[in-house]
Amino acid sequence: MRKIQMVDLKGQYEHIKEQVNQSVLDAIESTAYINGPEVHQFQKELEDYLGVKHVIPCANGTDALQIAMMGLGLAPGDEVITADFTFAATVEVIALLGLTPVLVDVDPVTFNIDVEAIRKAITPRTKAIVPIHLFGLAAEMDAIMDIAKEHDLFVIEDNAQGIGGTYTTRDMAKLKTGTIGHVASTSFFPSKNLGCYGDGGAIFTNDDDLAHTIRGIVNHGMYERYHHDVVGVNSRLDSIQATILRAKLPNLDNYNAKRRDAARKYSKAFQGIDSIVTPTGFCDAGATICDVCDCHVFHQYTLRVLDTDRDALVKHLNENDIPCGVYYPIPLHLQKAYSDARYNEADFTVTNQLVKEVISLPMHTELDDEQINYITKTVIEFVTR
Ligand SMILES: *Cc1c(COP(=O)(O)O)cnc(C)c1O
Repeated sequence: MRKIQMVDLKGQYEHIKEQVNQSVLDAIESTAYINGPEVHQFQKELEDYLGVKHVIPCANGTDALQIAMMGLGLAPGDEVITADFTFAATVEVIALLGLTPVLVDVDPVTFNIDVEAIRKAITPRTKAIVPIHLFGLAAEMDAIMDIAKEHDLFVIEDNAQGIGGTYTTRDMAKLKTGTIGHVASTSFFPSKNLGCYGDGGAIFTNDDDLAHTIRGIVNHGMYERYHHDVVGVNSRLDSIQATILRAKLPNLDNYNAKRRDAARKYSKAFQGIDSIVTPTGFCDAGATICDVCDCHVFHQYTLRVLDTDRDALVKHLNENDIPCGVYYPIPLHLQKAYSDARYNEADFTVTNQLVKEVISLPMHTELDDEQINYITKTVIEFVTR
């Protein structure tokens, strides 16, 4: 059996090696390293793929979130509601801009931000909601957009884990995640579903004025050369990364299909095991719970293990040469940097439970049946012994 990896970047590279190597060499030969034609081409191709009017490439997914919030003109004192159960980047940029993060609990089935918890957290100072399409499953965007409309709030989708995923609206329209809110961010970190070979990120929006504002912010606040109208940042995707992303974008749907395929096999093997909860999601107009539907792009395949010593399971898998991850082991509201006297433990019962139960299995485009069978057998042996 091939060695199991949490993410197999080498195996994926082997399939596109010649094309990538040639295009990287071409990018070097071109010497247009910054803002070169490759970056503009990639931008156009991603706009077409997503069906969104504007893609603004930038340096990484954390910058993308920060710049989106700057573009919306959020100011100190404004409250931004986001999920307690996510990667810290989401809350970090809110705090960094002097805005007030308001963390709320998540749904135990989808792991995504809890819509009722959003409603409860709204105050006159609330300005924005940041749903995360966690692990590759779209958040409940219909309900979130309804709340935003009702209270005149911005919605910033953190799509770092969801690129290529779809969300089915209540009108049965299938929209790509990251094209539904006012603005969205994504990351091209190597292990993300569309990863480059370094750092990269992008902002998406259908709003022409906001896109214009953001294009200036990423470039030192310049709209005309050496005229700095707003305080900006320097955040760029370089041409070498763009050329790699151009080679990978046409494969994205296939990559996501391979992830779903692996997820389906995992879930089938775990069927009927009482102590294992496999990932599920709401997909059809927010009504039906389906197993492993085509809305999920499985950035992670995350189980809940009930009445089981999760950390002992992690150790057992590692001892059997199976890497795994715990995303995320500590709720953000309990992190030193983001703790706040206003928080009440009773409002975080789901996240507090999930951090003890979740375990993410190897998930990438190169998993084979032998590996999947070995992983599921090893997990089942442990939880049923
Ligand atoms: C990866 C990630 C980010 C940050 O992306 P970087 O490119 O690493 O800065 C933000 N939010 C979520 C949910 C992520 O998974």
